[in-house]
Amino acid sequence: MVDKNESGNEQGLKKKRNVLESTQEVIHDALDKLGYPQEVYELLKEPMRLMTVRIPVRMDDGSIKIFTGYRAQHNDAVGPTKGGVRFHPDVTETEVKALSVWMSLKAGIVDLPYGGGKGGIICDPREMSFRELERLSRGYVRAISQIVGPTKDIPAPDVFTNSQIMAWMMDEYSRIREFDSPGFITGKPLVLGGSHGRESATAKGVTICIREAAKKKGIDIQGARVVVQGFGNAGSFLSKFMHDAGAKVVGISDAYGALYDPEGLDIDYLLDRRDSFGTVTKLFKDTITNKELLELDCDILVPAAIENQITEDNANNIKASIVVEAANGPTTIEGTKILTDRGILLVPDVLASSGGVTVSYFEWVQNNQGYYWTEEEVEEKLEKVMVNAFDTVYRTADSRKIDMRLSAYMVGVRKMAEASRFRGWI
Ligand code: GLU
Repeated sequence: MVDKNESGNEQGLKKKRNVLESTQEVIHDALDKLGYPQEVYELLKEPMRLMTVRIPVRMDDGSIKIFTGYRAQHNDAVGPTKGGVRFHPDVTETEVKALSVWMSLKAGIVDLPYGGGKGGIICDPREMSFRELERLSRGYVRAISQIVGPTKDIPAPDVFTNSQIMAWMMDEYSRIREFDSPGFITGKPLVLGGSHGRESATAKGVTICIREAAKKKGIDIQGARVVVQGFGNAGSFLSKFMHDAGAKVVGISDAYGALYDPEGLDIDYLLDRRDSFGTVTKLFKDTITNKELLELDCDILVPAAIENQITEDNANNIKASIVVEAANGPTTIEGTKILTDRGILLVPDVLASSGGVTVSYFEWVQNNQGYYWTEEEVEEKLEKVMVNAFDTVYRTADSRKIDMRLSAYMVGVRKMAEASRFRGWI
């Protein structure tokens, strides 16, 4: 079955379809290793609910444009579903489904009382005005309002969405329900019930995973050469954290190209010049490609951009000793196998990028109790959660002699399978 996307090409569609198929393959292996019967896999291989919506938006030139959006809810046995909404031209139904499965795994790994959800709208926010984006965000909430809510399904930011978009969505939902509902969505601005530390939470979580992985590999962060693919929310904060920790960030990239300096890039300057979509390389003449970036000589490689970046085509050329996935799905199954066989320590997305949803959970808890925490409290709690999760996944991988992706899936899927069983669903 071909997944329709208004702007995608055949190649892109094939890749996107594989994202769900490959995640299903690993879930199957994980459940098998845990000794669950086939029906558990049948329940968990796809989201339990998927809503497709068509959103009419009045554009600034007076015309009406109809956008397609999705919301997938993977499994709500543990609790309400939770996960971001991405605005991107390459969004497809299959991708949103896979992303919702990954959110369930993340929630399981960091032990949150949630299942996974994910949303997406096929659009290019780089080409839209502020007002058009507001109308699209509000239209999306009206379209999905029946299936979301603070105890049903809680959205958050993802690729090309931010705290302003969360604010519009929260306002629209509160108007529909006729009471203020900060707990409907996370990643809000601080003044609207957002949490300290949410904006940099994904990068903080990745930083903790890098530190733990480096300890295992005997690599000193001081002076370590780091390459970061992507300069969006995760990539930009991460570059800053690594730079501040004394590492040498030798390569960064955006959707248009990459920058390389073996002596270390001036991260503060680049952060200052990047736009809100993470674009910065357009300002430079001397750039390399994203493909070249991934194969640079370095100690730590962090794919923090999009899916399917490390595959059987380039995994043999990766020179890093540690790969930590800040993006969702950057390495294929074949890529994972090659890196593992070559002795490269791969910290998978569902573990490494779970800092974002962890602080989203903290935000939701603060909204529910109406009592707000300091930045230090948030950081201290996040540190504990991430170190614990890394340790559990690493030990499972080590004792079972499996790679960290499979081990993370085993840790991530267990609670959901148990909860589904206790509820009498399987
Ligand atoms: N979109 C983020 C992710 O992929 C965060 C989700 C959330 O905070 O709920 O993990």
